[in-house]
Amino acid sequence: MNREAEIRTDSMAFHGNGMIDPFGRAISYLRVSVTDRCDFRCTYCMAEDMTFLPKRDLLSLEELDRLCTVFIEKGVKKLRLTGGEPLVRKNIMHLVRQLSRHLESGALDELTLTTNGSQLSRFAAELADCGVKRINVSLDTLDADKFHAITRWGNLTKVMEGIDAAQAAGLKIKLNAVALKGFNDAELPDMLRWANGRGMDLTVIETMPMGEIDADRTDQYLPLSLLRADLERQFTLTDIPFKTGGPARYVEVAETGGRLGFITPMTHNFCESCNRVRLTCTGTLYMCLGQEDAADLRAPLRQSEGNELLSNAIDEAIGRKPKGHDFVIDRRTRRPAVSRHMSVTGG
Ligand code: SAM
Ligand code: SF4
Repeated sequence: MNREAEIRTDSMAFHGNGMIDPFGRAISYLRVSVTDRCDFRCTYCMAEDMTFLPKRDLLSLEELDRLCTVFIEKGVKKLRLTGGEPLVRKNIMHLVRQLSRHLESGALDELTLTTNGSQLSRFAAELADCGVKRINVSLDTLDADKFHAITRWGNLTKVMEGIDAAQAAGLKIKLNAVALKGFNDAELPDMLRWANGRGMDLTVIETMPMGEIDADRTDQYLPLSLLRADLERQFTLTDIPFKTGGPARYVEVAETGGRLGFITPMTHNFCESCNRVRLTCTGTLYMCLGQEDAADLRAPLRQSEGNELLSNAIDEAIGRKPKGHDFVIDRRTRRPAVSRHMSVTGG
């Protein structure tokens, strides 16, 4: 075979197998932060006084759709919209509706989102109508005053109405709670009973050192190994192989009949099975949540009407996906591991 034919065959093999990174991991999951803005200011996520991107830097909804579509053509099967708060992006349901065509065609297995729930009562029914089946709602406490304190601007009643509306629309909900020492650790058993009692899984997350915030992360950090030991005094937890395509490790809770997930980027590195990449609302692709390296996809997107340049830029970026993150939280490591906030890539 001549050299040109060899290259063509290689490239066809590459596309046939989807996107494979240098460590043999198939990339089938794209998370898209559709805005860096939010109607909350959770203390572990953002500083109170945040500078957001100028609106002119954002990709349009049409451009986001085109980018997502190229990723789907290259093997992405699961797509999650996140943010900032995805449901505060203007006309976001237009994008959801557009993307739902890939569910109908069978190219995409799942379209979902992560939300703080504040706008859910408005959008739940339409999300369900677009083929969204499950969503993640972030909720760190069931106490209205504490909720207001941790989110700075949030209203628990609105989030509860959103959860009711989502369940009424038939959406399955997973609750995400960041485990924060001295804030919600004592309350998590009650949250678990409440969530499981309403048919929702609960996942607890270790706080990650991303972006400058006003608080000290070493004060907030609670290793989930400690939390688990604590919960085991009240609950019988059995490890189960259940997976939702993410890094959570699940246990079954005998007393509630429900599930509890642990996301432990700090105490248990889950990078070896990482199947995802993250796109920001300006078209920057992050190959790892815990590294600074990124690829600009906005320039190739805008340079030509065809998708070849874009597709090549994506291949080149996947070829640089690192083995894993370098998160550390301790008193000597004062600076966050990565300078951007979680709201840039959406977790
Ligand atoms: N606004 C939406 C929400 O809150 O669900 C989506 C974006 S938010 C950045 C996604 C998730 O990241 C939330 O569950 C939030 O609790 C979590 N998160 C934010 N900052 C974090 C940090 N420093 N460490 C761990 N999780 C964090
Ligand atoms: Fe907003 Fe979500 Fe960050 Fe809270 S965690 S400030 S809701 S982006």
